[in-house]
Amino acid sequence: MQRTKLVAGNWKMNLLQSTGSALVEAFLQKVELRQDVDVVVCPPFTLLGRLRDELRRSHVHLGAQDVFWAEDGAFTGNISARMLADLGVSHCIVGHSETRGRFGKLDTSETTLPYFGETNETISLKIQALFYQSIEPILCVGETLAERKAGQTESVIAAQLEGALSGFDAAELFFFIVAYEPVWAIGTGETCPADEAERVCSFIREWFKNKFNDPDLPEQIRILYGGSVKAANAKELFNKPNIDGGLVGGASLDATEFATIVASA
Ligand code: PEP
Repeated sequence: MQRTKLVAGNWKMNLLQSTGSALVEAFLQKVELRQDVDVVVCPPFTLLGRLRDELRRSHVHLGAQDVFWAEDGAFTGNISARMLADLGVSHCIVGHSETRGRFGKLDTSETTLPYFGETNETISLKIQALFYQSIEPILCVGETLAERKAGQTESVIAAQLEGALSGFDAAELFFFIVAYEPVWAIGTGETCPADEAERVCSFIREWFKNKFNDPDLPEQIRILYGGSVKAANAKELFNKPNIDGGLVGGASLDATEFATIVASA
């Protein structure tokens, strides 16, 4: 089955109104948008409203970087899926290694960690909330360097998938994206070799085959690679049969780089 490639840019906590708009404008001038490649831009929450207006006439989708699972209420500082839908958001990252507390990437004390640390349970609640608003989740999974060295790559990823998705039926997951993001490759400049990224993405597809009794689901689900994707390595990665595109951090902040990555898909 031919899956539509997808390239998503994760701006993380970068850019202001003026610089965000300038980046989008430069990107739209450089990129050649095609029907066979979906493009998603995930700015910080503060820029969603402005970018919605700027992207309206393009085919670029608007994505968010995180969500809170409750619909509304006393959850100071949080943003619900309903609020994202109200802003025209169509995709949302969940379980990024920078929000999963278990990786200890955040320099916070034990007492504050639970407020930042995403768990498989909260990820599952977020996915449910996104589905309810017809927002397509981009679930990040991936191992740390220590886990890779210990030969635990597959078991870590299987546990992340199981923890986030065990409550769902196959029918609910047809509009769902997984991003394989080895933690050691994120923001480090050290890309996972394309053959190894393909091997792990194929393992993820196989996981869906074994878990859900629906032969169409694993063929339909899009699996992205993320971790120091750049113009120079995107083509090799995206040419692999089980890699359906990329989740791009740093390189999505450069209009020329990101446009070239999109063209590689
Ligand atoms: C990311 O933040 O999801 C990411 C992959 O970052 P980078 O491309 O900078 O490694």
